Amino acid sequence: MRYQSLPYMYDTLPFSPTDPEYSWQNTALCQYVEEKFRDVCRRFGYREIRTPILEQTELFTRNIGKGTDIVSKEMFSFQDRGERDISLKPEGTASVVRACIQNSLFADYPMLKLYYIGQNFRAERGQKGRYRQHQQLGVEAFGIADAQVDAEVIALAVTFYRELGITDCELKINSVGVPESRQVYGEALREYVRPYLSEMSEDGQKRFEMNPLRMLDTKSKGDLKILEDAPHLVDYLDPESREHLEKLQAYLSALGIAYTLDHKLVRGFDYYTKTAFEIVGRHLGSQSALGGGGRYDALVKECGGAPTPGIGFGLGMERCLITLQEMGISLPLPQGASQVFMIVLGDEPELLRRSLQILMELRANGIAADRDFRSKKFPPQVKTADSLKAQYTLVLGENELAQNVIQLRNQSTKEQREVALGSLVEELKRLFA
Ligand code: AMP
Repeated sequence: MRYQSLPYMYDTLPFSPTDPEYSWQNTALCQYVEEKFRDVCRRFGYREIRTPILEQTELFTRNIGKGTDIVSKEMFSFQDRGERDISLKPEGTASVVRACIQNSLFADYPMLKLYYIGQNFRAERGQKGRYRQHQQLGVEAFGIADAQVDAEVIALAVTFYRELGITDCELKINSVGVPESRQVYGEALREYVRPYLSEMSEDGQKRFEMNPLRMLDTKSKGDLKILEDAPHLVDYLDPESREHLEKLQAYLSALGIAYTLDHKLVRGFDYYTKTAFEIVGRHLGSQSALGGGGRYDALVKECGGAPTPGIGFGLGMERCLITLQEMGISLPLPQGASQVFMIVLGDEPELLRRSLQILMELRANGIAADRDFRSKKFPPQVKTADSLKAQYTLVLGENELAQNVIQLRNQSTKEQREVALGSLVEELKRLFA
């Protein structure tokens, strides 16, 4: 084949791919999940924001953190023709913050609840559940520092999964404190690891130097063993962060949301403060995080805005679809695109012209109508109608045209009757009402 999609980038098709392993790469499934997300967001009072796919590189290097994998080696960055350093968006939050500052939203809306559905790009080593282009469904709530909002944001994510039928997942929470407490903890962690440093993985050793907390976010069995008795971040929290965490736990309990406190949960970006959380699935192998997020009270100021607290999350679309597939959950997808399929018997010019007009009239009246332009005979056309699962067929021939009527046939009961062309739209609207 001459052209192939790039490594770890995939197509989403209107038909399920023949290989069942990839049947999740289906547009109807994506649309269903997106609609569910929009619906849950609407009920929680969130409005949609859309930001460009390209941004200045510095927006990410400054805010995600130079020591993170994404910034150090995984961004798709290049110079445009004006020699500007630009990058494909690796995550959603920094762009949303930039857009809100640029459009004065923080000033105009002191309580701002936004959601987005967007594509992210990371030049990661791909595997199941890990792609170089992936889609995230995310929310950001700005302006409120109170832990009630943390609980509400988490409840939104939990509601979304619950309503999709993904009950088989675990909520993990932690607090990463504030930069000062994190610094003290980072040093304590270094002190603890130092005697074993030469036994740590190469990645672990790098993180020891660059960003010690990230040592905790490892999949290396050796590193995990070394870290087993490492000091816990919660024991180093400043009093305010500690109180915030306690309040969040109480609110989650009040909402009946089960969680575990995970001392090793630190998340991939440097901008988090206080709350960090992740929703972990059981069907994703090593790429087990369905989604995650946290509070980022210093980010807006970092990006040049007035100090504004914020909290948000990003949920991975692909991992959600894979989980639905592996759990055997079948979503109530709309059946067949075509409600009505027109069968035209013959190829006389007037017949073809009229058939096109009738199709247009049906579509203009909100009815999904189609025909097979390849044949003038009945059997191949009815076969196409069946393959598209059309509920009704309309048969138009020379005789019907002469009498200004059409044959209306119910494809499941096979009942057929004649309808005057002048009342066809009304008749079909009544049937589909
Ligand atoms: P992050 O932005 O890294 O916090 O990721 C949030 C969520 O996005 C993760 O929990 C995953 O579900 C999803 N995700 C992140 N990176 C990828 C990727 N490379 N491929 C597919 N999904 C991803």
